[in-house]
Amino acid sequence: MDDARYDADDATIAAHDDGFPFDAVAPPIFQTSLFTFPSYADMLRRFRREAPTEIYSRVGNPTVAVLEDKIARLEKAEAAVAYNTGMAAISGVLFSLVKAGDRVVCVRHVYPDAYRLFNVLAKQLDIAVEYVDGQDFDAVRAALPGARLLYLESPTSWTFETLDLPALAAAAQGAGVVSVVDNSWATPVFQKPLTHGIDLVLHSASKYLNGHSDTVAGVVAGSQALIDRLNDIATPYLGAKLSPFDAWLVTRGLRTLDARMRQHQQSGLRIARRLTEHPAVEAVHHPGLRAACPTLTGSSSLFAMTLSDSIDIPAFCDALHLFKLGVSWGGYESLALPAMITLQQQGGPNSAVDFGVSPRLVRLHIGLEDEQALWADLAQALDQASATTQTRGGEE
Ligand SMILES: *Cc1c(COP(=O)(O)O)cnc(C)c1O
Repeated sequence: MDDARYDADDATIAAHDDGFPFDAVAPPIFQTSLFTFPSYADMLRRFRREAPTEIYSRVGNPTVAVLEDKIARLEKAEAAVAYNTGMAAISGVLFSLVKAGDRVVCVRHVYPDAYRLFNVLAKQLDIAVEYVDGQDFDAVRAALPGARLLYLESPTSWTFETLDLPALAAAAQGAGVVSVVDNSWATPVFQKPLTHGIDLVLHSASKYLNGHSDTVAGVVAGSQALIDRLNDIATPYLGAKLSPFDAWLVTRGLRTLDARMRQHQQSGLRIARRLTEHPAVEAVHHPGLRAACPTLTGSSSLFAMTLSDSIDIPAFCDALHLFKLGVSWGGYESLALPAMITLQQQGGPNSAVDFGVSPRLVRLHIGLEDEQALWADLAQALDQASATTQTRGGEE
């Protein structure tokens, strides 16, 4: 079967397990800090890495391993490792593969906290990060020689630009640079970057993979050699391993991943299309509305819209009922995030300011609620917010 597509085998990997005690259909939660050894000889074998058993849950736990194994297989990777947030996955990759004096090439409009990690902590440790327009292939290729890591998101945050992953992967490989893609938006249901030559894929599992907005988690998948590097450095020393209970929650979320993603895709596309026809909406930034991106086999439901000057954005936000105001995405509930607020966010370098995100942008996550009800909520909020502008205009 075509490795790049999410197929019946993947659905089985996501939803079925075998070999649990008592033939339990769901995995047990091994809520334990350490694992004991029956003898001196057994303990010695384990410490010499001649046996695969667990020692301590900061480094490995069987409940977490169930999730890691599923992610590795879904992303067509040899191995995976799970961390307690998506940011721990990102910092784990960075600090396991990059050292002082090295340079990272990073796509513009990267996730805001990744940007802060690069511009604060990486900078303090003398790691340089050079930002490039990921759609400008010549610019990326020119930046690669001598770099250590190529850090990508496709689509990117806020602007939802898609990248030519096979070409970028080949260019990175040619320059001896490790390539990594944040695949949180597409999930392995809609994009499998490793099948296009990318070296590492990472996720904020807090989003669609878990899918229920009830935990934060991260995963990284790739070759055994690269995951071994993470397991030798990030896992024991940064100490951000995922906990057994949170791994169990994400594993539970994976069972419905493909059904949820199909519903998100359908409602997301329909609402995005209706928004393009709304007079108060200047543009809708949704990869599914543009010319097909060859590596995406579908689209999730996070996108942005540019509202015209006729809309009072704070009034629009306050008029929403079903959509809640909030960060994050990937759960049941629909959410709105106005760029106007992000542009004023304090606490370090601000990627929205530095990359010039428009204050007229509002990001939407289309959740699993009734699609007609979601559309009605957006339409009435746009109506109210344009009426507000007109009234205010009249008062002046
Ligand atoms: C949320 C997010 C992250 C960070 O993940 P956390 O689990 O919140 O640490 C990284 N990348 C993208 C694209 C995200 O949306």
